[in-house]
Amino acid sequence: MEYFDLIKKYDYEDISIIQNRKAKLFAIDAIHDTTRGPSVGGTRLMKYRNEEDAFVDALRLSRAMTYKNAAAGLNCGGGKTVIMDIEGMDRKLALQTVGRFIKSLHGRRFTGRDLGISTKDIEVMRTETQWVADETSAGVGDLSEATAFGVVQGMRACLAVAYGDDSLKGRHIAVQGVGEVGYWVVQYAIENKAKVTIADIDRKAIEKVMNQFPVAVVAPNEIYEVDCDIFSPCAMGGIIHSETVSKFKCKIIAGSANNILATNQDGLVLFKRGIFYAPDYIINSGALIQWWYRQKTYKVKDKMDPREAIRDLYHVTRNILQKSKEERLAPFIVADQYAASRLKKEKTYMDLNWGCEG
Ligand code: NAD
Repeated sequence: MEYFDLIKKYDYEDISIIQNRKAKLFAIDAIHDTTRGPSVGGTRLMKYRNEEDAFVDALRLSRAMTYKNAAAGLNCGGGKTVIMDIEGMDRKLALQTVGRFIKSLHGRRFTGRDLGISTKDIEVMRTETQWVADETSAGVGDLSEATAFGVVQGMRACLAVAYGDDSLKGRHIAVQGVGEVGYWVVQYAIENKAKVTIADIDRKAIEKVMNQFPVAVVAPNEIYEVDCDIFSPCAMGGIIHSETVSKFKCKIIAGSANNILATNQDGLVLFKRGIFYAPDYIINSGALIQWWYRQKTYKVKDKMDPREAIRDLYHVTRNILQKSKEERLAPFIVADQYAASRLKKEKTYMDLNWGCEG
């Protein structure tokens, strides 16, 4: 079976099935790796075709969190909880059950909001355990702005490697999706005197941006072909695929969306086309970094200023792209190598106090 192969190949630490018959709950909690610290990663609730699909999604997402956290230099590992959206599920009891499970791990696992989980759901989970992130308090700040700030560092790193000049001034940036993150990307771009073209399927989101900034607007299906320096996908994942990959007229792709490449093959095609791709999980970790340094549940000894840590994404991205250029390896491969190397070398969980009451 596919998932037994995955479990062996990627060496998961713990995988649990959480079932509550009364609640009609079927969930999977995957802890991929805690070498660097507690397993951090959100809880997702969505419809899956079957249990196998949910299981594989939990495995895939928890491993991605290990890499994302390691690459961001955070003292935490990766994990994910996936709840199957089953008709007739008692949502409250299901979330309480998952909360109780997380509590039983005594801080080894810390979760929060992901797709399908609202802030209200988080409140329900928090009635059972403190090991669920409360984004609304603790002074974590505007996390979307933090993400956009990181994305802009990634853009500048790409410009440095592609053109030898990291300034956004006079560059043309095409932003796909001007929601929470895209709005801030536009703001930073305009502040830095870039020319901006946007597209969104939501007229209100477009109007909000147009009322504040001098931007051009194109239809959603035209954004891929805008003749620009940087294409910034800030809407949804999987947008670089066999039909779009040949359309781009940009030199750089750097955005906030997760899993931008539909397949590794698409990443290889971009590389062959000479387009500099800033690996998504490297440059979209601004929110994660800001949240980690400002959350109060774990006592992170090394209290770095999140702004400085996010600014550092510039150097991380630049080094990855430089290596990609020198070693003729696509950037997504170099990024994975970088994250994996940080995982092996740095056994840092001793810096954390896990001793809080769960
Ligand atoms: P959002 O929902 O606020 O904004 C997404 C925008 O994209 C919306 O305005 C939506 O109308 C638009 N959109 C959807 N489909 C589109 C299409 N086909 N063409 C053009 N526009 C389209 O989401 P967000 O919080 O801004 O996040 C954007 C992306 O970044 C998501 O993929 C998210 O997973 C990822 N991300 C966000 C954060 C964060 O801090 N919010 C952190 C990491 C990654």
